[in-house]
Amino acid sequence: MARFIFITGGVVSSLGKGLMAASLAALLQARGYRVRIRKFDPYLNVDPGTMSPYQHGEVYVTDDGAETDLDLGHYERFTGVAAHQSDNVTSGRIYQQIIQRERRGDYLGATVQVIPHVTDAIKQFAQADTDDLDFVLCEIGGTVGDIESLPFIEAIRQLRNELGRGNSISIHVTLVPFISAAGELKTKPTQHSVRELAALGVQPDVLVCRCEKPLPEGERAKIALFCNVPKEAVIPALDAPSIYEVPLQYHAEGIDREVLKAFGMEPGAAPRLDRWTEIVERLENPEGEVTIGVVGKYVGLPDAYKSLNEALVHGGIANRVKVNIRWIDAELFEREESEIAAKLEPCHAILVPGAFGERGAEGKIASVRFARERGVPYFGICFGMQMACIEGARDLAGIEHASSTEFGPTDEPVVGLITEWMSQSGLEKREAGGDLGGTMRLGAYPAKLAGNSVVASIYDSTEISERHRHRYEVNTAYRERLEEGGLVFSGMSPDGMLPEIVERPDHPWFVGVQFHPELKSKPFDPHPLFASFIEAAVRQSRLV
Ligand code: GLN
Repeated sequence: MARFIFITGGVVSSLGKGLMAASLAALLQARGYRVRIRKFDPYLNVDPGTMSPYQHGEVYVTDDGAETDLDLGHYERFTGVAAHQSDNVTSGRIYQQIIQRERRGDYLGATVQVIPHVTDAIKQFAQADTDDLDFVLCEIGGTVGDIESLPFIEAIRQLRNELGRGNSISIHVTLVPFISAAGELKTKPTQHSVRELAALGVQPDVLVCRCEKPLPEGERAKIALFCNVPKEAVIPALDAPSIYEVPLQYHAEGIDREVLKAFGMEPGAAPRLDRWTEIVERLENPEGEVTIGVVGKYVGLPDAYKSLNEALVHGGIANRVKVNIRWIDAELFEREESEIAAKLEPCHAILVPGAFGERGAEGKIASVRFARERGVPYFGICFGMQMACIEGARDLAGIEHASSTEFGPTDEPVVGLITEWMSQSGLEKREAGGDLGGTMRLGAYPAKLAGNSVVASIYDSTEISERHRHRYEVNTAYRERLEEGGLVFSGMSPDGMLPEIVERPDHPWFVGVQFHPELKSKPFDPHPLFASFIEAAVRQSRLV
């Protein structure tokens, strides 16, 4: 039977619980254990798919097509374990299921209540498909004390009792703030938070204390005394220069050892951490640097492009260079044409990432044009591929009014809505104007690459599978004219119906992909497209 680790947060949000869970899982994995991480989100949206990136940051998409919390991206990047639909659940989804059952009459006349119906559903979610695992880490979103998270804490309390001693532990992540006027770190918020959690019936076994300054032994002892936790199990967690140093830092503070001890297990031999030391060594000792211009829409909020940001860093790890990302607001190029060269000339490569809606589209098309004309490496992801096709259509194929139906009715739908396509489960159909939630082409789809293409050599394969999240597709009715303009359709869906990759073989590096390769990149296994793109940026940096 799997052992369970329940992770809650206290005092404030944004304490890096997700990163802590991912790091602990990586450390347990480095000790030879099989792990899986799950995230419970207490909000009422059924999934984060319909939330604005400003609300929620990036929506992370799994192979099985779930739109999930961005923490699942950390989990996957740190452990290499592919996340599934069943690894992220929201209160909204739980209530949706319960209410559907109630309407069907499944409860046989009973009163449907938070306890036991909601808590049972939470417990089932935590335990589903865990037989072949050693540890399941369950992270509860939000902060202890929130009304919304109460059913989750209650479910943990019940589950801890049901699983029996030694089969579960609780980790509480808190903040130990530094009050500069007093020149001291303050433990009181942690004490209150632990008391609040204990009042709900959950006593933490390990405390992770986020702090800006090293936690003095005296404060550590005080937290241990007041919070009823062994002193060694009070783990200080200082900010790290890079997220990939976090597993090593937590290990140095003893978290994996304390977790095993809390389960009554022998810590045994030290974990194998060479994978992580190698990554940190490369990050700390770059042999050069490149600047990548990312022309997007949510550039004020780096969390909106979390996986993209990480995949670019991974490309840097692969090439032993530091990657500086310059986030550029596409609308700036629409307001001020002179800004295009001003902002893009200092960049060694240009990337247009995924996006929804018309805002900023012309600025992105202008960026494609700049990259193409100046021979600067260009990487278009999803929307960025669509804009590369519209640019090619307008500027090289003479289709002056080329556009996307996403922006309204058009006579030249170079990018159009798809209403039918094949998935593993058969023909999928959509109606124009239907629901927005869960109605995209989502998750892993295979593609076939042309044998002599640039991308086939980058992947070193002609068969790939990548994750998708979009409604619109490049319209194959325009393929011939676009190809005459030099834009080659080098990757297609296996039935040949949907364009997956376009490239310009006459350009130093110009690739557009309909999918999101950034979702599958790992620091220890950089995605080939990102490794190749950064390599092209390095070549470009030597030219200018
Ligand atoms: N808005 C575009 C579509 O739905 C692109 C989506 C994306 O970039 N993820 O097709």
